[in-house]
Amino acid sequence: LDLSKLNPLPKRPIIGSDGTRLDSRKPRAAFVMLAREVELDALLKTIREVQMAFNGEKHARYPYILLSDPGLPFSPWFRSKVKAVASSAGVEARFAEIPKEHWDIPSWIDQTRMYEGFKKMKAGGMLYGDSLSYRKMCRYQSGFFWRHPMLDNLDYYWRLEPGVKYPCDMRRRDPFRFMRDNGKKYGFVITIKESPGTIKTLWVSSTAATEWINTHKHLIPADNSLRFVAKPHMNAYNKVSRSVPHFEIADLSLWRSQAYQSFWAHLDAAGGTFYERWGDAPVHSIAASMLLNRNEIHYFEDIGYFHNPIHHCPRSRKDAARCACDPHQSFDYDKFGISCQREWDALQGINSTDVILRINE
Ligand code: GDP
Ligand code: MN
Repeated sequence: LDLSKLNPLPKRPIIGSDGTRLDSRKPRAAFVMLAREVELDALLKTIREVQMAFNGEKHARYPYILLSDPGLPFSPWFRSKVKAVASSAGVEARFAEIPKEHWDIPSWIDQTRMYEGFKKMKAGGMLYGDSLSYRKMCRYQSGFFWRHPMLDNLDYYWRLEPGVKYPCDMRRRDPFRFMRDNGKKYGFVITIKESPGTIKTLWVSSTAATEWINTHKHLIPADNSLRFVAKPHMNAYNKVSRSVPHFEIADLSLWRSQAYQSFWAHLDAAGGTFYERWGDAPVHSIAASMLLNRNEIHYFEDIGYFHNPIHHCPRSRKDAARCACDPHQSFDYDKFGISCQREWDALQGINSTDVILRINE
């Protein structure tokens, strides 16, 4: 399997404004994790694994930023445990609360309508159908985390979540440096079709996102990837949205951009996070597909990732040899078509069947 085909690299190194090759400097980057006190055990395991897989290396050692609910600072015990695990590899852990005004239900939300909706969504069997805190988390992840003062001096973040696993040895390549040196702005490992019920008026039929698109065409680059989040044979952007189960390595300038802030404000005013259950993942997927050039989005095929119950395990023998996972369990080409890998391949001009047949070559 020719990995260079999956991860095409630009030919020339990128030169910084001061004339030096950018790869000589360490990116300003951190791991960012939203968490609750009760998730301590799971998140310690994740941090330890990230340390062993990559971040314990001298050239890496990116700090961990842990964010708690407003008014609920992490306890001294929690902090001491996280600090101990991080500092055993020379890495710093920082803690902060989410600002209250970034977490509370905004004033324009009709709460009677919202709670009525919760009942119906729960009765309809939707996962987190009646969870308010889950919706607050989704809104925070799409609209606010990048505004947290803890991230002010950073250019890149890598989202972590308590309990996720990184089964591969990633020491030979720093994903942050890779992003920067190759002009990548959004990196993912797994994509999933979102359950349509959660995003009825985000992306299906006449939607908040299409409204914004129709009035902001000048902000959308010609070489976008909207085809990836929309079904090309349908005349509107409808039916399918793609989401990413909480793995993200991205350039914060994407979310800080005027275009994204305008898009997000438009969605937030519509209130679908609370009336439906718009996830941060579909919002991010749509925005990245819409606002970035296609070659600014990167599929990290060589990073193993496990978010219960979904695996991504690298396929080539060379990569698999440094991963404690089974590529046959990889979700990418699942038989139910829940993964969007085939659509991604199509966008890149890659034949999925070739990739599947050549597993472990
Ligand atoms: P799922 O992966 O979509 O099933 O959702 P998770 O339960 O894994 O939550 C996603 C992330 O948001 C995890 O990092 C959680 O720790 C975090 N999270 C979810 N709800 C809350 C919350 O109410 N408060 C905080 N601080 N974090 C939350
Ligand atoms: Mn999760």
